[in-house]
Amino acid sequence: MALRFYNTLSQRVEDFAPLHDNVVRMYTCGPTVWNFAHIGNLRTFTFVDILRRWLRYCGYRLDHVMNITDVDDRIIRESLAAGRTLTEYTEEYTKAFLEDTGALRLERPERLVKATEHIPQMVALVRRLIDGGFTYSSDGSVYFRIASFPGYGRLSHTDFSGIRAGVRVDTDRYDKADARDFVLWKARKEGEPSWDTEIGAGRPGWHLECSAMAMEYLGETLDIHAGGVDLTFPHHENEIAQAEAATGHTFARFWLHSEHLMLDAQVMSKSLGNFLTLRDLVAQGNKPEAIRYLLSSVPYRKQLNFTFDALKSADTAIERLRNYKLRLDTGKFPAGESEKLAARTAEALKRIEESLDDDLNTAEALGAVFEYIRETNTAMDAGEFPQGNAASALDLLARFDSVFDVLRPTVTGGALADAEIESLIAERNKARKTKDFARADQIRAELLKRDVILEDTKDGVRWKRK
Ligand code: AMP
Ligand code: ZN
Repeated sequence: MALRFYNTLSQRVEDFAPLHDNVVRMYTCGPTVWNFAHIGNLRTFTFVDILRRWLRYCGYRLDHVMNITDVDDRIIRESLAAGRTLTEYTEEYTKAFLEDTGALRLERPERLVKATEHIPQMVALVRRLIDGGFTYSSDGSVYFRIASFPGYGRLSHTDFSGIRAGVRVDTDRYDKADARDFVLWKARKEGEPSWDTEIGAGRPGWHLECSAMAMEYLGETLDIHAGGVDLTFPHHENEIAQAEAATGHTFARFWLHSEHLMLDAQVMSKSLGNFLTLRDLVAQGNKPEAIRYLLSSVPYRKQLNFTFDALKSADTAIERLRNYKLRLDTGKFPAGESEKLAARTAEALKRIEESLDDDLNTAEALGAVFEYIRETNTAMDAGEFPQGNAASALDLLARFDSVFDVLRPTVTGGALADAEIESLIAERNKARKTKDFARADQIRAELLKRDVILEDTKDGVRWKRK
């Protein structure tokens, strides 16, 4: 079966292939850098990471753009309150965001772009909309007239035809009940940051940023546009209106939305005050890779309830995966190769691939891996796992880990666990066998830095703590 995704636009699961060549043109909405990201935000970014990695696994190249929203209502409010310039304020939280996503091993998109560095592109888009008759001005601000765009509501599957024309909304974030003509360009306000442009002095509305930057880098039609489910309305509905009114073409073919992370049966959010940040969880001793595992273990279209028990289970699951890899790396197995086991390995890999092809069903993929591990561990215990099957089992793990990325321990300042040391030594032995002495030396140095000393003896490698 082919790769397929649930498309919010059609409300159906559709086979996916990019429009041009082998390149997937993808835009995902990035963070608003007004504060630290919470792990709800990071669930959405983890989903995007799994999506990226799976597309590449399928053989596609990526041109992925993600924005950093570094000007919006909340940022202006907070930076004014802190008595800092917009740039000073947003740089701090941009850095924090990159640290957090780095700790979670989220790949950097091909282009990470800042809203404030694309004001001319935004102004040009507003110009096109003004010229096309989709806007009106009031008190120096420019609004999008939603009655002028018949497709309005198509993404969120809502009928907005009954709403009163000419009623406006100035804030960036609002509910469906407040669907109004939305602001494209906000007139300058005393004391707030603004830009002098041909459409007047002011600043962009949040929705405008994404349409302008997406089209700047990816052209008028994207293959995939993604974000958290709360962005469907109004943000993505408005993005479509702005882009399609200007170009007359489909803005994005596939719209993917990830469900919320919940805490105590409520959506995790800053405004409700029920949130956890990655840095707090790590400071409490939780491993970033366990958080990554937890966030990616539930398929992205299902709500995920955060609990500390679930986080503990994620940690245990990773330990099982690592111990299994260690056993494959270092275990002594009888000579030979079993055809039956080889077929079992191929079947497990196929199940992993089919699960992820099925709208990124990560839970199914994990189920397939653990079933395989259980069965082959039993075979190993019984002396029925021959050496000749180890390479393909390791290959399966490596393929799995190219998407889930949890096998490698995070290098923190703290002491390494014995299993982590053994695993690094096994990797060093392998490097030496293949004459990759640079890697072997690097591992020795890494271990030394963590206070572990290696001794090469005639019986093999011994290690001790300093
Ligand atoms: P923001 O920085 O507020 O623009 O949000 C960044 C991303 O996090 C957006 O894609 C939101 O949809 C997403 N998001 C916000 N809250 C949650 C949550 N509780 N669970 C999952 N994603 C969320
Ligand atoms: Zn956006």
